[in-house]
Amino acid sequence: MSDYLIETKCVQGAYTPENGEPRVMPIYQSTTYKYESADHLGKLFDLEAPGHMYSRISNPTLAYFEEKVSMLEGGVGAMFTSSGQAANLMAVLNITSSGQNFIALSSIYGGTVNLFAVTMKRMGIEVRFVTPDMTDEEIEALIDENTRLIFGETIANPALNVLDIERYATLAHKHNMPLMVDNTFATPILCRPFEYGADIVIHSTTKYIDGHAQVVGGIIVDGGKFNWDNGKYPELTEPDESYHGVKYTQQFGNLAYITKARVQLMRDLGTTPSPFSAFLLNTSLESLHLRMERHSENALKVAEFLEGNDMITWVNYPLLKSSNDYSLAKKYLNKGASGVISFGVKGGREAATKFMDSLKLAAIVVHVADCRTSVLHPASTTHRQLTDQQLIGAGITPDLIRLSVGIENVEDIISDIKQALEAVKCL
Ligand SMILES: *Cc1c(COP(=O)(O)O)cnc(C)c1O
Repeated sequence: MSDYLIETKCVQGAYTPENGEPRVMPIYQSTTYKYESADHLGKLFDLEAPGHMYSRISNPTLAYFEEKVSMLEGGVGAMFTSSGQAANLMAVLNITSSGQNFIALSSIYGGTVNLFAVTMKRMGIEVRFVTPDMTDEEIEALIDENTRLIFGETIANPALNVLDIERYATLAHKHNMPLMVDNTFATPILCRPFEYGADIVIHSTTKYIDGHAQVVGGIIVDGGKFNWDNGKYPELTEPDESYHGVKYTQQFGNLAYITKARVQLMRDLGTTPSPFSAFLLNTSLESLHLRMERHSENALKVAEFLEGNDMITWVNYPLLKSSNDYSLAKKYLNKGASGVISFGVKGGREAATKFMDSLKLAAIVVHVADCRTSVLHPASTTHRQLTDQQLIGAGITPDLIRLSVGIENVEDIISDIKQALEAVKCL
C-alpha cells in the first residue's frame, strides 16, 4: 500500500483482506482475546509480544482505522480516542507533568483553550499563549527549561488563521521540543504537517474525517522522527515503573511516544472509542479525498460570492486573495482550504441572527465540517465560555458567522445565502 498515492490509500489502505476474507473491514465487537498459554499473555502484559490483550488498550477494528489515518498523514503509528478533546489532552499529557508548561497559539478551538487554560492548569500544567504577530524572540522569552512543546492548528477553528508550520517547527526544534499540530480542518488531503517538520498530528475525527456528523472521536498520529532521547523527556527514556521498568525509547524506538500514550495513558484514562465508531469512520475515509476537494471548491466560490455582496462587511477564507494568510495558504493549503468560511453581515449581532434564521438549506448546528452546509454564531454558542479577551485572542468578533460549506451543488448554497441576505435587508 505504501507505494500508492493518497487517494488510493483513502479507499483501500490498511485493511487488505486475504483470499476468501470479508471485503469490508469487519467490526471486532469483542472486549477480550483468547490465548493458548498463560505465558503468551504474560509476554503481552510485559509488552514483549505484539497483540491485543484488552479492548480498552487496543482492538483490531480500531487498529485498522489507526493504521489508515497514520498512513494518510505519513506517520509511524496512531491512537484513536473517544473524542478530539481526549486526543489533545493525551497528546500533551503524554510528555507533560505538573510544574511544567507549554506554548500554544492563542487562535485555537475554544474547547482546547478551556482544556489547556482551565483544566490542565488545575493539573499544575501551564499553557503560555502566543500570537503569530509575535517575533521569534518574543516567543522564545516564554520558553524555559520546563517548556515541553509548541501546539497550533493548521487552520484555526474558527479564526481560520493558517499555521506557519515550518516556522514553529524550527522554533520548537531549536529548543529540543516537538511541534504538535491539530490538523482537523485541513485533513491529510489538504495538508500533511509532518512534511513541514511537525512531530505529532492530532485530529478531531468528528469533523471532516467523519464528515457525516455520526461519530465523536479523535486521533493522535506520531511522525516518528523526533529525537526524544535528548535528556529532556525522562518519561520516554527512563524506566516506567508501571511497566516493570520498560524504557520506551529503548524498547520501541521511533514508536516510543505513541506506545507510551497507549499502554500508559489509554490504560489509565480509558477514553476508548467503540469498534463501531472505527467502522463508520473507516467508511468515511474512503471518500475523504473527494469530499475535501468539493468542500474546498464550493467554499472558495461561496467566499468569492460573499466578497462581492454589499450586505457583507468582511469575509475570511484562507485562499481568498484578500486574506491576511493568503501566502501561507498558498504554501500549506495549495490543494484547498476546507469548507469553513467566516464573515460578518452588515447590522451586527441582530443581522447575524436574522441571517441564520432565514437560511433554508444551511442548518444551524453546533458542528462544522459536515457534508451538509451548516452555520453557527461562535460568540453566542461554541465560544460563549470564553472571556472577551480570549475571544479576541481566538480571532472571534461578536458578528462572526461561521459557515461550513457542504458538498451540495454550490448554486443551491449560494441561492440560499442570497435569499437569507434579502431577508436581512427587510429588518
Ligand atoms: C472540534 C474540535 C476539537 C474537539 O474535538 P471533539 O471531537 O469535539 O472532542 C479539537 N480541535 C479542533 C480544531 C476542533 O475543531
